[in-house]
Amino acid sequence: MKVLVAVKRVVDYNVKIRVKADQTGVETANVKMAMNPFDEIAVEEAVRMKEAGKATEVVAVSLGTPACQETIRYAMALGADRGILVQTDQELQPLAVAKLLKATVEREDPGLVILGKQAIDDDSNQTGQMLAALLDWPQGAFASKVELGDGEMDVIREVDGGLETVKLKLPAVITADLRLNEPRYAKLPNIMKAKKKPLETIDAGETGVDLEPRLVTLKVNEPSQRQAGIVVESVSELVDKLRNEAKVI
Ligand code: AMP
Repeated sequence: MKVLVAVKRVVDYNVKIRVKADQTGVETANVKMAMNPFDEIAVEEAVRMKEAGKATEVVAVSLGTPACQETIRYAMALGADRGILVQTDQELQPLAVAKLLKATVEREDPGLVILGKQAIDDDSNQTGQMLAALLDWPQGAFASKVELGDGEMDVIREVDGGLETVKLKLPAVITADLRLNEPRYAKLPNIMKAKKKPLETIDAGETGVDLEPRLVTLKVNEPSQRQAGIVVESVSELVDKLRNEAKVI
C-alpha cells in the first residue's frame, strides 16, 4: 500500500512570531522555516507503517514555492521514499490545498493519505476534512493511535472528554494528532541520502484547479501585552483587590 503524506513549510515553532508593520500578515522574510510539527508526526507514522511491512512506499507532497523542496527533503531524511512539489507562488488556502491534494491522490492512487491535524501558521484545521469530503473517502481526524488491518484501519481519535475508536474502510484520510507518535530526528547520513531521492515538480497551474482565495485577511494584530503582576501582602488584601479593583467576586 502506498501512503501519501502532506507536509507544509511553516515558520519554525521556536521562532517568536512578528506581525508585519502594515498588519497584513506575519513576517516570514529572513525567518527560520521548518516542517509543520503535526506533519512530522504524519511522516513518522507513515515511515513506521513501511518499517512494519504494512506500507510499500511513502510519498511526501508539499504545495507552494520552490522553497518547499527543503521540507520535502526533510521528509525524505525521515524516511519518505520520494517527493512531489506542487509548485505555485500563489497564496494557498485550505480549500485550494485540498483540491490540489485531491489531484495528486488521483494521480498517485495511494491507499492512505496522512496529513497533520492543523498547520501551525494558519491554524485552520480544515484541509484533511476537506480532502476526505472531496474524495468521498472515510476520514479519521485527530488520530492518536492507528491500527492497520486488511483493507481497513482502526483509528483512535482524541475527542472532547475521551477517546473514540472508528473503523475506516481503505482508502482513507487521517490527520495526525500530537500523541500519535514521537517523530525521530533526521540523522546526518539520512539527510545526505535524502538529497539523492527522487523529487518531482508539478506546476499547480497545469492541474486545472481553481486556486482563488475565498477569504481576505483584513488585519493581523499582535496579542495584547500582559500586564505585570503584583504581590499582595495578605489574603484580605487579595480579596479586597479582586472585589473592588478587578471586580471579579
Ligand atoms: P490546515 O487545514 O491549514 O490547518 O492544515 C492541515 C494539514 O494540511 C497540514 O498539517 C498539512 O498536512 C496539510 N497542508 C496544509 N497546507 C499544505 C501545503 N501547502 N502543503 C502541504 N500540505 C499542506
